[in-house]
Amino acid sequence: MAFENSITYAQQLDRIDPLAKYRDQFIIPEHNGKQQLYFLGNSLGLQPRRTKERLHQILGNWADYGVEGWFMGDNQWLQYHDQLIQPLAAVVGALPHEVVVMNQLTVNLHLLMVTFYRPEGKRRKIICEAKAFPSDQYMFETHVKHHGFDPAEVLIEVAPRTGEHTIREEDILAAIDQHKDELALVLWGGINYYTGQLFDMATITRAAQAAGAKVGFDLAHVAGNVPVQLHDWNVDFACWCSYKYLNSGPGAIGGAYIHERYHNDPTLHRFAGWWGYDKATRFKMEKGFVPDAGAQGWQLSTPSVLLYAAHKAALEIVEEAGWQNIQQKRQQLNAWLWYLVEELETSIPQARLEIITPRSEAARGSQISLLVHRKGRQLFDALTEAGIIVDWREPNVIRLAPVALYNTYEEVWKFVDTLARLIRQ
Ligand SMILES: *Cc1c(COP(=O)(O)O)cnc(C)c1O
Repeated sequence: MAFENSITYAQQLDRIDPLAKYRDQFIIPEHNGKQQLYFLGNSLGLQPRRTKERLHQILGNWADYGVEGWFMGDNQWLQYHDQLIQPLAAVVGALPHEVVVMNQLTVNLHLLMVTFYRPEGKRRKIICEAKAFPSDQYMFETHVKHHGFDPAEVLIEVAPRTGEHTIREEDILAAIDQHKDELALVLWGGINYYTGQLFDMATITRAAQAAGAKVGFDLAHVAGNVPVQLHDWNVDFACWCSYKYLNSGPGAIGGAYIHERYHNDPTLHRFAGWWGYDKATRFKMEKGFVPDAGAQGWQLSTPSVLLYAAHKAALEIVEEAGWQNIQQKRQQLNAWLWYLVEELETSIPQARLEIITPRSEAARGSQISLLVHRKGRQLFDALTEAGIIVDWREPNVIRLAPVALYNTYEEVWKFVDTLARLIRQ
């Protein structure tokens, strides 16, 4: 697609955008009385207008029925989970019974580690990204200590090569091969939160399983951003949060995927609670854990129905807009951003700005990460002052992610135009 670098061209793209109307479904925060240019769908997705209404439904049922709300009225709470599954299964490419909405991301990582990290003899190593998201690092560190292992010995971190920012796939595959006799698990971030690098999860899955290891993915930056086919790729397990690209609110309820081949395997370990108990007999409250069929058998606690409701509001919009359509716009909007940023890159002689996200479309999602070599913080502050909401990651990276459901081509143009002006100062 041949783009043209002008605001009128951007406005033209917005006019013919079939998803343009969905922006109105979200509340866009303001800056000095004008709508912000909000590019942090990778951090906290914006609030759907209907979220309040969905929350009020739950509060209304609580007011009207008290505890009977679990069984009464529209959207009875006991069945509420079922409404979330179809749209989510489409987003992560899973069979409906392989998906469960529960807890939050780091909690789910620990719980799934209980099931899928089963060190035996010398097969106890875990391959992960160097500089994974901090919560993942702390999870790994404490979880392997819980097994009595030394993290430095058990965790094999694959890092970018010296002078490079992203991790080469061949280096991941080489690590898997090198440790294949001692490898218990590969647990990897589908998209790196810092660089925005998207990994080839199908290839990593094949290689890990060929080495006799289990494989799982942290999809925090993937779910709702780029399509994945967890079931077809034969991934063992995955989990994600829902407040980033899934727009379900701060601290939203998380989700997990567990391949169906594990659902009825009695040899697997899991940490159980009553909410994961066989639904048909749960309220007999008998001794002896009997898991519910499917991924739902990994639940522990009474879920927050209010968080379900916020999640549902956001998923309804995904369904209405159509996941395929969202993907088309995501690619086009991202191509537009890259076209503009690469033009800027060639027009600034001094190496002040470096794109550290992979240039290949197959290796990135919505996010772009810009490394600013001089006065980065100042640049970031100036952008914020101009009403452009991006984020700053120490020591010198600006991250942003225009998202299909509520960002416009014009906003992206204005961002790059402002960036160009500021960076030449
Ligand atoms: C956002 C993010 C988290 C956050 O975990 P929570 O438990 O939801 O706070 C964890 N891991 C990755 C890779 C993330 O991007």
